[in-house]
Amino acid sequence: MFSLSRTSSIAMGLSSWRGWFCCPNLTAAIIVWLLGRMMTDVDVVAFGAHPDDIELGCGGTLAKLVEAGRSIVFVDLTRGELGTRGTTDVREQEAREAARILGAVARENLALPDGSLALTVEAKYKVVEVIRRFRPRLVLLPYFRDRHPDHVHASEIVYEGTFLAGLPRYVTGEASYRPEKILYYMGWEEFSPSFIVDISEQFERKMEAIRAYASQFSLVNPSYPETRLTSPATGRLIRSRMAHYGALIGKKYGEAFLVRGVLEVEDPLKLKFSSF
Ligand SMILES: [Zn+2]
Repeated sequence: MFSLSRTSSIAMGLSSWRGWFCCPNLTAAIIVWLLGRMMTDVDVVAFGAHPDDIELGCGGTLAKLVEAGRSIVFVDLTRGELGTRGTTDVREQEAREAARILGAVARENLALPDGSLALTVEAKYKVVEVIRRFRPRLVLLPYFRDRHPDHVHASEIVYEGTFLAGLPRYVTGEASYRPEKILYYMGWEEFSPSFIVDISEQFERKMEAIRAYASQFSLVNPSYPETRLTSPATGRLIRSRMAHYGALIGKKYGEAFLVRGVLEVEDPLKLKFSSF
């Protein structure tokens, strides 16, 4: 089962920070301490429908944010139990490893039904609970148009859950909270980007995190059938798309984002862009 308890996800976060593993008493003390800390704000919560969606869509940007000292949390809506390859246990291990590679402080799974994501009261409640607990400044979510229905519904669920989290009379046991900003990352379908993040320095780490999902992307295990993800064309698409968006800003690799809202500019001269 891929549902991570809060404690286990915290422990995973610690391991990603410190490479710790010493004595059980100290470990327990650290976990208790961190339980209190987890009630404080994090900088970013990134949501994905399935384990590996976040890495594919915005893994380079998240790695860059971690390098800048930001705290990030990964939240998968489903365990990917309908995936053609691998098992939920294997995918849980892969997701933990990918989050460790990118430097997340925690990774949680809302255990909603893979293949049947829908804009239900339960789904939105789970998002509200996560938003209020982690109190992020920024939420990253999948673009609302996609060939995979789960990605479309994940976008709707996270958007509405994030909105509801700010309503004081929506009761969950945590205080109401709504982040100021949400950003869509790109899935299968493209959009005209509001901006592009240069991930040239983080590209290899993003690819390492994607490769952590060996059950999905590797043909090493011949007992699983080939899928779209194991096709060499998918690997080429991942690289070429990041190269394309990087080229648009004169860099090697980039990730595209769509702003929900309108960007305010104080000084146009400080904007980084080239018209020619
Ligand atoms: Zn997906």
